[in-house]
Amino acid sequence: MLTFKRGHDIGFFAQQLFPGGRDVSKETKNAGEAYDLTKKLLEENVQTIYEATFIYKGVLVMVDILNFENEIYTAYEVKSSIKISETYLRDSCLQYYVLKNSLANFNDLFLTTMNGDYVLEGNVDPKKLFKRRSVKKEAEKNLEYFDKKIEDAGLVLEMNAIPNISIGKHCFKPYQCDFFNTCWKDVVSAESVFNLPFINKDKLFEWHDSGVKTISGIDDTQIENQTHLKIKDSFISNLPVVHLDKIASILSSVKPPFAAIDMEIWAPALPQLQGTRPFQQIPFLFCMSDGNTNDCFLAEHVADTRKEFARELVERTKAYNTLLVYDKTMEELAIKGLKDVAPELAEDLEAVKNKFVDLFEIFRNLYYYHPAFKNNFSLKMISEVFNTGVTYTGIQSGLEAMNYFERLRNTEDPSEKSKTREELISYCLSDAQATLKLAEYLQNLIKTQ
Ligand code: SF4
Repeated sequence: MLTFKRGHDIGFFAQQLFPGGRDVSKETKNAGEAYDLTKKLLEENVQTIYEATFIYKGVLVMVDILNFENEIYTAYEVKSSIKISETYLRDSCLQYYVLKNSLANFNDLFLTTMNGDYVLEGNVDPKKLFKRRSVKKEAEKNLEYFDKKIEDAGLVLEMNAIPNISIGKHCFKPYQCDFFNTCWKDVVSAESVFNLPFINKDKLFEWHDSGVKTISGIDDTQIENQTHLKIKDSFISNLPVVHLDKIASILSSVKPPFAAIDMEIWAPALPQLQGTRPFQQIPFLFCMSDGNTNDCFLAEHVADTRKEFARELVERTKAYNTLLVYDKTMEELAIKGLKDVAPELAEDLEAVKNKFVDLFEIFRNLYYYHPAFKNNFSLKMISEVFNTGVTYTGIQSGLEAMNYFERLRNTEDPSEKSKTREELISYCLSDAQATLKLAEYLQNLIKTQ
């Protein structure tokens, strides 16, 4: 949902590259109407059309911006991303194919992405914020390919029957297929080979396609890794795999007094704080729990409060020798960014970083593996299996938290502000509390063995 919103906002913002156009999506209710209106606007030689809609051989495409200048049409497809993925390129080549076959004087299609080096100074400058890259070379090479593929797809549709194709890696490429729940419903049982963690998909499909569909059915000689062999046994016995010595070694670096900490990050596609770049990770909330007290700091960033965030982080963590985290990647990145904005606190921030003990290491390295994890190592899943008693009632993920934070910044309604604030703090604190409970559970496990 957030990705959609982000894409939508950026697409809307990119219209400023060619201001004053007609937005087909705003004037129509469905694809048919959008197609008809586009046709009409083309006949009227309207210079710029947003969401211009074309259909060729049954393939419908919409392009973010279509501009007519010097008697030629140029299209721009806007992506809320810094990098151009294979999928973006392939999709744009298809758009190019449809446009080339629909417009006599079509010139080129440019993939328009965010410029990762752009730094906000004053108002956002759309010309510097976006980068453009022609897809003409790749698209021209693929014109015949699309002719053939569309013909094949037409034949499949004419058959009026579901093609007899088994599940495979194609179900995930480029995205998980919309029919996943239908085709995979009999496959995703607790016993399925696809529940094994850290085994590449080629191997899993090799087993599945040769008739080995359940974990217990895998021949031990087919499993190269000793840990995976233990995991197979753990699925059969429904008991966890535990490497106590490894867990003890990680926990030996925990020095009291300790607390668990979690941070939330905001990474707006469109830079909103002076001196920041697109998608720059900006920490806005941290919560700590030591079992007796909970402590949270929320920087609302109506103005740039990163320095204040850095100061609060340094001050409030001073009382602890260890900070337990679950996957420190994001926290470390946040600290790196804070050092740039508050160089006078660089040493103190480094000291905060050095206090981290990352419990994720235990699970990522399979030092503790419970078959109920399957191949999901999120804190929420682990916490559920360990029965920590920590519940997540509102926000369910970091991405959703970013969405809530946007809402907090943008709403003027005091009651919505206060409710959103509470939701954010509750989510972040739940993560910190779950991390603390996890550490306690593992420490007890070592003591009692
Ligand atoms: S999930 Fe999608 S891609 Fe996979 S077999 Fe079913 S329809 Fe085909």
